[in-house]
Formats: sequence, structure tokens, C-alpha cells
Amino acid sequence: MKLTDLFSTTLRKAPADAETASYQWLARGGYIRPSANGDFVTLPLAERSLNKLRARLRYEMETRGGQEIGAYAEIESLAAGDIQSYRDLPKVVFAFERIQKKSHPRLGLFGAAHSPSLDIHVLAASENVLKNYAKSINKMLAGFFDVTKINANQTDCGGYAFITAKGGTPYIRCPQCGYLDTQAFAQRGKKALPAEDALPLEKVATPDAHTIEALANFLDIPKEKTAKAVFMVADEERLVFAILRGDMDMSEAKLMTALGSSVLRPATDQEILDAGAVPGYASPVGIENVLVVVDDLIPNSANLVAGANEAGYHLRNVNYGRDYTAQIVADIALTKTGDACPKCETPLSQVNGVELVGTSPARPLENATFTDENGKGQPIWSASWTLDLGRSLAAVAEKHHDDYGLILPPAVTPYDIHLVWLPGKEINTRGEADDLYMNLTNTGFTVLYDERDARAGEKFTDADLIGCPVRITVGEKALKENCVEIKLRSEKDRALVELDDIANYVVENLE
Ligand SMILES: [Zn+2]
Repeated sequence: MKLTDLFSTTLRKAPADAETASYQWLARGGYIRPSANGDFVTLPLAERSLNKLRARLRYEMETRGGQEIGAYAEIESLAAGDIQSYRDLPKVVFAFERIQKKSHPRLGLFGAAHSPSLDIHVLAASENVLKNYAKSINKMLAGFFDVTKINANQTDCGGYAFITAKGGTPYIRCPQCGYLDTQAFAQRGKKALPAEDALPLEKVATPDAHTIEALANFLDIPKEKTAKAVFMVADEERLVFAILRGDMDMSEAKLMTALGSSVLRPATDQEILDAGAVPGYASPVGIENVLVVVDDLIPNSANLVAGANEAGYHLRNVNYGRDYTAQIVADIALTKTGDACPKCETPLSQVNGVELVGTSPARPLENATFTDENGKGQPIWSASWTLDLGRSLAAVAEKHHDDYGLILPPAVTPYDIHLVWLPGKEINTRGEADDLYMNLTNTGFTVLYDERDARAGEKFTDADLIGCPVRITVGEKALKENCVEIKLRSEKDRALVELDDIANYVVENLE
């Protein structure tokens, strides 16, 4: 590709709204441009990089028995239609899609509204068969992050995240054992308080104790001896009364999972009053017609202080099981910095990151069945992975750049070689550069050829911005010695390489 033919240009300045290094350098290198509605256009350079990744992944998937399908709506209906018998299983299908995401445009491709992705689905007759495929796919994903030189971390649920200050998603990480999960779903080691005999309920006046802090101060008890009440409305139809220990906050994501709901919002004071509760003093004791959900630590927490459902009063010695029960008991606590690691009890830290691979764990499909060897109908088991290629490209840029531009690994670069022609006074350097461009291309290298009549400094600046791993300069001084100058983007020094040795030199340095 001749640089004069390339659609995009480099930018001398990063877009003003770019908050991540990847946005700055991908925009300046001419890989991406912001577009309407929080989205991004991937320009030809980025599409070449993405296509290279897609080709590698297609090969890897086909090696594992995967078959490519086009964009689809639901794997369940596909499976229901085309899989009837145990003889049809297992099957591995994959699709290259553009998946809708929550948009954070200032983060660049980390926050694009739509992201090019690889979707993988494994369909099998049993959970055990799925497990073997999961191992194989995890190996493929680890290999992908290895070759793209993305420092991705596997999460507890089998996905992958890239940890970076501007990732946009809070994660919880254990500095000791490496446990990692999104903060929304991260677990924590939960320790119950020492067991106590249940004491009689006792109403106490607690004027102005509207918050857990004020209540604990007023009664001179630790926060973990109080019960925190949170009212939410699920799917705009169910009022939910969630109860946690007073020293914990609620994870809305965990509560939504426990409820199987897709929309959650805090209840208004009026909605709480309509349910017969008193905001700030709500009690699970005696409340009716409300869906009660308690954190799984609550049944092991005796003699808590909870609201009395009367303004200005609380109840001492509230005990789950004796005084009230819940329809759902589940882990709904938000994990924070300092909480104990669920695996090794080391204090956890909150970090920021971006999800590169999301997973749906092995599960039996509800509406897709097959007939087993005995002629009996059985649910098809399915597990899924989604690898975000747009974010992966951004993670590469985030990690592999310097103050002058991108430094792309060979597996990601749109072109192997950035060939620069410098005009000469005595030798026809242009003719030599044209010949070299053709020879390198015929040898199988991909070459971006800067044949512009521009200053050397401008050409080198652009080569640095675009970030191909190898830069070859055809200039008069080196040519007089039958050489070209080769500079690796990742290194400072330049080498004089004889014309006959160029191909070997490049091959050695593209590994
Ligand atoms: Zn740990």
C-alpha cells in the first residue's frame, strides 16, 4: 500500500476528549475516528489489524472443530432448530459480530458503543463434554493474548480483563493469589459474628438516627450489629426489600441476578410508605406483600438492630428465622477494598479494568432439547465466550506505545514494514525504493510504502505514529554502500543492512 493511497492521515494532536492513551495514539496514527452516538469508525489501518486477528482466530477455531456462522439472534433457537439427536452433538459454532456495549466515548475503543467481537458457542450433550471444550478454548484465548502481547488477566468466572487505570469498570483483585472479578460480582470472605442466643425483641427510641452510622453511634454498637434495609423496585413491578448487615453495601448486580430481573431502581419514599413501611426506620418484622431478600450472612447474624417501622424507633435483637424470613437468601453484598479475599483472606484491592472476554457458564438450555441414545428428550448444554476485538486492539495500543506513537507487535500490525523513500542527488533512490517495495511485497511481506515527496523528519514522524514493527529507509548515503537503513520501532538503534540481507533481517525481527 502506498501511503499516498491510504485513506487516513496521521494527526499532529490527539482529539481533545481522548482520556486513554489508546484513544490518543490510535486516533493520531490514523486507526480510528470518533463518530456519532458515542461510536468509533475503524479506519483501514485498524481494519487490517482486526482482520489479521480475525484470520488467526478463525484458523484457531477451525482447528478446534469450530464452524463459522453469520450474525445470529439467539443460539438457543438455532440449536433448537438444527440439533435433534445425540448424534448431532457436540457442535462448536462461532461468529464475528459487532456487539452493543455501554458507551463511554472518552475512553476510545474501551468505551465504544459497538465493538467487533468473536462469539463462541459450544453445544454438547452434557456438562462434562463442555468442560473439555472450555479447556481448549481457554488455551486458545491464552495463546491469543500471548501473541498479541496483551497482559490480560483471567477472571474468577473464566473471562479475561485488562487492568488499566482508565478501563472504565471497577474490578476487585487479590494481590496475593490473583483472584480477580468485576466489583459488581466479586465475592469476599464472609465471617459471621460469634454465635449468640437469641434475645427478646426490644423497642428502643432512636431519635434522628436515620443512617447506619448515626444508629451505631447512638446505641454505641458496631455497625455489623445492625441490619441495613434497602428498598428497590425490580422490573417496574416488584417492590423488593433487601437486607444486609450494616457494615456492608449492596451490589445491585448481585441482587438483580438473585431476582432474575433486568431493571432495578431505588424505591421512592412514597412507594415505601405505600408498602406499609417507614423510610429510614423500615423493618422486616411484620412487613407483608413485599419481596424480602436477605444477604446470606444475615441468617447467621443474631440479635441485630433493625428498624421498628415507626419513625424514631428501632428494634434490638432482631433474629432471622424467629422474627421474619425472606423469600430469597443470596450473596448480595458489594465487595470493596480491604475486604478479605474469598480464596486466601488477604485484603482485596479495587482496581480499574476493561472486560476483554465475557463468558456464559455451562448451562442446560431451556428450550432446546435433543434425543439421547435411549430415545429420551434431554436439554442441550451450552457455554459461550465473547472476545472483544475492538477492546483488544485498544489494550495493545494502551500497553505498546511511547511518546512518539504506537509500537505494534507483529501479530497486530497492519503492515510488517514501513518503507520510507528519501530523495537523492546522485543516485535514483526512487527507482531503488520502488524495486524494493515490489520485491518485499512479492516475498510475502505486507508493506506500507511512503513515496511522498516530503521531508525525512515528517516521514519518520508518521512512521513512528503508525507503529509498524520494521522501518526501512532507502536513502542515498546507505545506498552508496549497497545498503538500506533498518530501524525496529521497538528499539532506538538503526542498522545498515545490505540489500541482499533485508528479507532475512526482517524475518528474524518479526518473530
Ligand atoms: Zn487471594
